Amino acid sequence: MRFTIYNPEPLAEFIDVSFTGEAEDMLMGFLSAYRDHKGKTQLLEHLLSHEGIYIPRYYKIEYDDAGGILRREKTDNAPAVIRKQTIPDISKSFMKSAITTPEIEFSNMYLLEAMRGCPWSCRFCLAGQIYKPARKKDIAVLKTEIKEALTMTRRVGLIGPSLSDYPHAEEILMMEGVDFSITSLRANIKSARIAALMKGHKSVSIAPEAGTERLRTVINKKITEEDILDTAQRILQSNIETLRIYFMIGLPTETEEDIAGIIDLVKKVRANSPKGYITLSVSAFVPKPFTPFQWHSMLPLKEVKERLKMIKKGLLNEKGVRVFHDVPKYAYMQGVFALGNRSVGALIKRIALGDALALKDKSFESDLDFYVFRKKDISENLPWDFIDAGISKEKLWQEYQKAIEG
Ligand code: SF4
Repeated sequence: MRFTIYNPEPLAEFIDVSFTGEAEDMLMGFLSAYRDHKGKTQLLEHLLSHEGIYIPRYYKIEYDDAGGILRREKTDNAPAVIRKQTIPDISKSFMKSAITTPEIEFSNMYLLEAMRGCPWSCRFCLAGQIYKPARKKDIAVLKTEIKEALTMTRRVGLIGPSLSDYPHAEEILMMEGVDFSITSLRANIKSARIAALMKGHKSVSIAPEAGTERLRTVINKKITEEDILDTAQRILQSNIETLRIYFMIGLPTETEEDIAGIIDLVKKVRANSPKGYITLSVSAFVPKPFTPFQWHSMLPLKEVKERLKMIKKGLLNEKGVRVFHDVPKYAYMQGVFALGNRSVGALIKRIALGDALALKDKSFESDLDFYVFRKKDISENLPWDFIDAGISKEKLWQEYQKAIEG
């Protein structure tokens, strides 16, 4: 989970070391230190000088009565700030699938990274912020890796938060004998061309996230209704079985009009093309560390359920349209782990020890609500403030203000 790297505090009680950022270079230094030091204490003391490595036991946290962070103090030679590590050239990264097997979610698929980071800055998106700057794999390196993958399987999954921005995407997808799978596409003309190359594939996804132009401006998703309708139509006309459309509910400043906007938009997509299935994937907005929305509150679960109901009802009679959504309670837990501090560790421990009732413990729940159902202020000490992710808190706050002021 990416947010455990960018907010490792809920796991502080259980881990010795957390790698902050991209681990490739840190791992090499860590493994060599591991070989050179016999005892754990000696190893951890040595690792304090390694950039990007966070060792929770060297920090003491003091809380106020409400559960917020009053003070954070380092001990021994621990650094006050942990800097995110980034590799400059992903063409040199050794990260790729080690095995292929039918026993996993991506059955028999070889996963390869084409891009890391995203040139867009959607205000809710963790990946868009923490993997900055966006980097692209050299096409010759990617082609060689694909050829290696073909010795194991025909199924190759290309990874990148915004593959439409990979300049060689079309050339790669034209490679013979490969059954490519891609992550969601940005709704634009290039994505439509990419989708045409995916002809005959089961599904292609686009992610407008919000149903109205107004709310897409708030979240900084720079795509218009025209982009969405045009891309959706081209995808469905490329004989792709299912067009998957991602939406979020509970985004900052969202109103019922925005929910009605989701329904209208999907109806327009359907009216433009009767071919194929349209699957909506609706998830509840969860604020994430290091995004402009990190200070925002989640929508109460009762309202999340009502808005989901409204979407399902509004699309009930649309032919070939299916609505899937995540379980609101799981989104809440995601929020707790993304935004919580070390106190959340107690809940993790109870769940890990098999206490099935831990999540139903009412007294606990009110404490957990503290992390997710509360608007925060820039002056508040956030659990992840000790991490320097290369993004200034002030800049994020300005972006947040811009968003909520519309
Ligand atoms: S939501 Fe997609 S396009 Fe927006 S920043 Fe994140 S990865 Fe990029």
